[in-house]
Amino acid sequence: MSYIHKTLSIENVGKANYVLKVEKKDVKFKAGQFFSVGIPNLIINREYSVCSGEKENQLEFLIREIDEGILSKQLRNLKVNDPVKILGPYGNFYIKNFDLKKNYIFIASGTGISPFMSLIKTNPSLNYKLFHGIRYIEDSINNLINDRYLRFISREKKDIKNCFHGRITEHLNFLENENKDSFVFLCGNSAMVTEVYDKLINLNFKSKNIFTEIFF
Ligand SMILES: Cc1cc2nc3c(=O)[nH]c(=O)nc-3n(C[C@H](O)[C@H](O)[C@H](O)COP(=O)(O)OP(=O)(O)OC[C@H]3O[C@@H](n4cnc5c(N)ncnc54)[C@H](O)[C@@H]3O)c2cc1C
Repeated sequence: MSYIHKTLSIENVGKANYVLKVEKKDVKFKAGQFFSVGIPNLIINREYSVCSGEKENQLEFLIREIDEGILSKQLRNLKVNDPVKILGPYGNFYIKNFDLKKNYIFIASGTGISPFMSLIKTNPSLNYKLFHGIRYIEDSINNLINDRYLRFISREKKDIKNCFHGRITEHLNFLENENKDSFVFLCGNSAMVTEVYDKLINLNFKSKNIFTEIFF
């Protein structure tokens, strides 16, 4: 079934990323899930993870505009009240057997942080650490900045607390100090997810506690 939702706003996050907000209507989802999103009369849809919390009054998606991409460009040009197709929710990248006493490690590249934004907004007392690979400091998610949020910045050097220069995969030694019984969630591009997964297994994290979502 296809649902048409009105656009509420488009807000830029740095130069390449933006947050698309649409009406929620009566849609329900679990933090970590994604929707198939499209524009009426355009025959393609793409998947986008929700970045807003389960209880918020609108649906939000953090999207990277891909230079040669079809839909991510067109969504950015939407105006307030323009219709958007929203199908779903889909996916099982959410926390099952939720346990506030457990440690959660979230590792994301780029907009792969979307499901973690939703998980953290939905469960603010979660005991988590968030590792985020970005290109520029402006790609940071500002309302998540605290000592739990470590940023790995590949294209510029910044002398800022909890920011490290280089790709996230160049800093995987940070995992050596983490609790090996943690639940680990990986989201983003396939090269990052694969490399981090292998490192986690080498470090004796338990494969049954590792969950992955690949965007491209
Ligand atoms: C389960 C799931 C959830 C997703 N959630 C999000 C999300 O929350 N936010 C988001 O921005 N994207 C997300 N994506 C990716 C999204 O579905 C699209 O692939 C992306 O927006 C490109 O669509 P397009 O039509 O603009 O480009 P297309 O015309 O489909 O693709 C152009 C090229 O860009 C590549 N590409 C796709 N994504 C990226 C990227 N991020 N960086 C660099 N190259 C890329 C593709 O592999 C392709 O080669 C998700 C994908 C999946 C499978």
